[in-house]
Amino acid sequence: MKIICIGRNYAKHAAELKNEIPDEPVIFMKPDTALLSKGNDFYLPKFSEEIHYEAELVVRINRVGKNIQEKFAHKYYSQVAVGLDFTARDLQQKLKEKGLPWEKAKGFDGAAAVGNWVDLNTLPNDINNLRFSLHIDGIERQNGCTADMLFPVDKMIAYVSSFFTLKVGDVLFTGTPEGVGKLERGQRLTALLEGSENLNMVVN
Ligand code: ZN
Repeated sequence: MKIICIGRNYAKHAAELKNEIPDEPVIFMKPDTALLSKGNDFYLPKFSEEIHYEAELVVRINRVGKNIQEKFAHKYYSQVAVGLDFTARDLQQKLKEKGLPWEKAKGFDGAAAVGNWVDLNTLPNDINNLRFSLHIDGIERQNGCTADMLFPVDKMIAYVSSFFTLKVGDVLFTGTPEGVGKLERGQRLTALLEGSENLNMVVN
């Protein structure tokens, strides 16, 4: 399976990292070994002094597709979760300054946490109006709504599938809203999707 991620998909987050608002989706990948499934805690890696959390809506692909038209994209997924795109921000900054790829900063083991899969048809709102949040030790640090995405989910699926064949089980991290920050050992991370707990883990 592939982990496909979209960067800079919320204008306020692009601004907080002093990035430009992109004309096209910014895409990067994480290897399947980055996946941190539910029930596992996150371990801060030794090679970074500044691991950031990024809470994101994650979409699970359930059909094989290539060159998917935006109007048919909704047929390619039925489940979502909240995920955490863990990022070694210090490493990423150095790589960005040199114009080098980000994989070391974004694709390390455990860098893609995914909460419980929820069937979209059990949620009161549709994919373009889902609210999710991240609480650290009980304090809300991020709160986003998919309505604020620069590139909505169906548009991204169309775009991504023009480059990469999507397969069953692939996951799409759809970008983070503002409020990202540094993790500390011992913190408890709790993510909510439409008000219900979706992910719960400790930073070690
Ligand atoms: Zn991200």
